[in-house]
Amino acid sequence: MDRNGYIEKALSLGASDAAWIPIQDIRVDDRFPGYCKEPGCSGYGRSMSCPPHVMGPQKFREYIARFESALAFKFDIPWDILVSDDRYPVFRVLHETATSLEAYARQDGYANAKAYAGGSCKNIFCSEHKDCNVLFGTGECRYRGISTQSMSGNGVDFQQIVKCLNWNDGVDKSTGVIAGIVLVG
Ligand code: SF4
Repeated sequence: MDRNGYIEKALSLGASDAAWIPIQDIRVDDRFPGYCKEPGCSGYGRSMSCPPHVMGPQKFREYIARFESALAFKFDIPWDILVSDDRYPVFRVLHETATSLEAYARQDGYANAKAYAGGSCKNIFCSEHKDCNVLFGTGECRYRGISTQSMSGNGVDFQQIVKCLNWNDGVDKSTGVIAGIVLVG
């Protein structure tokens, strides 16, 4: 595998940085899906890609053990955007980057590659729609191949990845980090 090629692909898609991390360095925390519920995200329970409809920490831990490593990528975004409604187009790019990298890995022969990204697809893509098509059995995902599952909704400790990769180093205090991962292997 040309690992640098994946990093270059992520950067070409606009990511601020990308790096490979061993699977054992991804910490999965049982508490995280609970945070989606309380204090809460309005996407909780309203999409097939968010808790409690995703596999959740226990199963996710077992699931990722079959992979060797993950490509992590991030975007540095000003906080004033992250705390406003302007964050949704930004998170859309995050999801599109994740799914593009997943497709890239599949084309590279890793048929089981799987992407995850921060944020709820219900809020990011389907806020204008009352219901998630997949959850209600009314059709396919409206954004199939573009949106993906919530990373923290499966228990992934995103801050630990940021710390592990020193991704906060040199980042201005007025800037926050949003991220995704693609399991490959
Ligand atoms: S239709 Fe797709 S993008 Fe929309 S909420 Fe459901 S899973 Fe998410």
